Amino acid sequence: MRLILLGPPGAGKGTQAQVLIEAFGIPQLSTGDILRAAIAAKTPMGLEAKAIMDRGDLVSDDVVNAIVSERLDADDCKAGFVLDGFPRTIAQAEALGEMLDGKDMALDAVVELRADEDTLVERILNRAKESGLARPDDNEEVIRNRLEVYRELTEPLVVFYSNLGLVRSIDGMMAVEEVSAAIKEVLA
Ligand code: ADP
Repeated sequence: MRLILLGPPGAGKGTQAQVLIEAFGIPQLSTGDILRAAIAAKTPMGLEAKAIMDRGDLVSDDVVNAIVSERLDADDCKAGFVLDGFPRTIAQAEALGEMLDGKDMALDAVVELRADEDTLVERILNRAKESGLARPDDNEEVIRNRLEVYRELTEPLVVFYSNLGLVRSIDGMMAVEEVSAAIKEVLA
């Protein structure tokens, strides 16, 4: 099963990716997690990405495309994968298409989690507070920028993938278990 989880920050992509890992035995490929690991390890890529991520802007397509292309070659991706946080621009989606063609892989579905913006700001702020693990980009101003970046650059991917017949849209405002059940249903 080769999937993309698409949706704004706070829609629950990471949470639902965990459910898909269990259900299908496939790895989660989160470009955000990989970039945060690079920052923690102070690699050149991490040092370059940090200021951009702290503002809630997007890291360059070249950087994330390279991350994903390399990751897709790992053994654990042979059974499939769930992409979380990638692609985020039309250029990334086009690059992914070429990568997958070159690796003889094809997407099975793009699961879109829909959610309204004001709820998302609240959700992210609450999650940061309750977990005690606020990320540097978890303050209201940066969250609003992340949402705007999503609307302008990432949301157009819904049309892009709809034209390929791949999109399955789900209401991400439901309870976690209900969202999981809905995802499994559309993928069955
Ligand atoms: P969220 O979905 O909550 O915004 P992520 O962990 O997916 O969190 O992303 C955090 C940040 O990492 C983004 O705001 C962006 O700066 C960077 N990032 C992650 N994935 C990508 C990507 N595919 N393209 C560009 N930047 C990315």
